[in-house]
Amino acid sequence: MTTSFEARVPYERRIFCNRNLRLDRVRFIGFDMDYTLALYHEAMEHLQAESVLARLVETFGYPKAVLEAKYEPGFAIRGLAVDMEHGNIFKMDRHRFVGRVWHGTKPLDRDLRRDTYTNRKISPADPSILMVDSLFSLPEISLYGQLVDYFDSLPEGTDKPTYERLWKDLRQAMDSLHRDGTLKADLMENIPKYIMKDDALAETLHRFRSANKKLFLMTNSEPIYTEAVMSFLLDGAHAAYGNWRDYFDIIITSSQKPSFFSSDDPFLEVDDETLEPGTEPATALKRGTIYLGGNVAELHRLTGMEGDDVLYVGDHIYGDILRSKRSTSWRTAMVIQDMEKELGQLHDMSAEIDQLNVLEETRFQLELERAAQALDGVRDKDLLQQISGLNRQLSELEARIAHAFNPAWGPSFRDRGELSAFGSQVEGYACVYTGRVTNFRFYSPFWYFRSPRDRMAHEIRR
Ligand SMILES: [Mg+2]
Repeated sequence: MTTSFEARVPYERRIFCNRNLRLDRVRFIGFDMDYTLALYHEAMEHLQAESVLARLVETFGYPKAVLEAKYEPGFAIRGLAVDMEHGNIFKMDRHRFVGRVWHGTKPLDRDLRRDTYTNRKISPADPSILMVDSLFSLPEISLYGQLVDYFDSLPEGTDKPTYERLWKDLRQAMDSLHRDGTLKADLMENIPKYIMKDDALAETLHRFRSANKKLFLMTNSEPIYTEAVMSFLLDGAHAAYGNWRDYFDIIITSSQKPSFFSSDDPFLEVDDETLEPGTEPATALKRGTIYLGGNVAELHRLTGMEGDDVLYVGDHIYGDILRSKRSTSWRTAMVIQDMEKELGQLHDMSAEIDQLNVLEETRFQLELERAAQALDGVRDKDLLQQISGLNRQLSELEARIAHAFNPAWGPSFRDRGELSAFGSQVEGYACVYTGRVTNFRFYSPFWYFRSPRDRMAHEIRR
């Protein structure tokens, strides 16, 4: 359902709605920082990849040869899963059945794929399978494929890590780069190289403020990094604001999401000059001051937030969206940076997608015909030939469409005829979703986002 107003918003810039959301009822709007307010350039992925390989060699005792691994941006998409037991990477549909599978840098051999995964529903509790859903983990997926290939190529009997050890080492090496500040130190040397500056951000936040919304920042990044990134994004961007802190009523750093939604950690006030936290729990949240830690119950108590008057905007399905939705009644908006590209592709392929739907409908009808004839004991050779011709056409067309999205994985929101596991999480937990925060400026701060799914089939087809 596109209203005439919304038709004026470019397709790639629209905000899509799963559950009705009335912006006029929202009093507080919270924002995550990394990959939400601050979108990263591809240079960030290269920095991560190079740093993590170096760390594997320096700290984890990996052979120097791993430095030759060639990171491939664009290979991985969100919502892939890693099978640590077999060294595979795969995509799942909403029912957790396995779709495409890669081993190393190639699709997994057909027979192996059938033996390992056919008719197997992946349990969320399976400890050897991990779903990778954050953007900053995409480089690890590509490197895992490269390194699986490298170690597979070594002769039997060579001392080499198991597939599981390899993934765990990659994860730990990446975590350690985040934890000890190595990555952030490199980033802060040259912020414009890694972070995009969206000129419409100041205006977008200003429009919300003008409509009397209270804005808050809630990020897991620490105070020093937050100060550096937010200054880069907002300082000097709008005449009405002295610096970035003026856009927000509350600023929370090192928030430890998702445990922010269940812990009882206190808020600590951060010193303006040193950016170091104090030790006394804060008894009020002052405007212009940076806080560290905290928890959601205390946030509600100190600000008078009630839950469903809060909209939280984030990019991470688990930390930002799913947990805030389950633990509070916050409404959620998910920023899916890779979506803009995917919407463009969807637009370019729309003739092919329409054709696919027509062919599928035709096949369905012919299959019915065949089933009816079979009941009468008739076997119509022409009909069978027609069906197998259609099947060929369909699989060629499907492959062409998938290739236009991502040659390795197809589109992120779909897996063959179903929603992908990622698509189904977005549908299940994000009230609205869009490519970037600044798309909100195309809509009034009083906009009523309406879901196309707020009616059941029997209500629509009266
Ligand atoms: Mg984030």
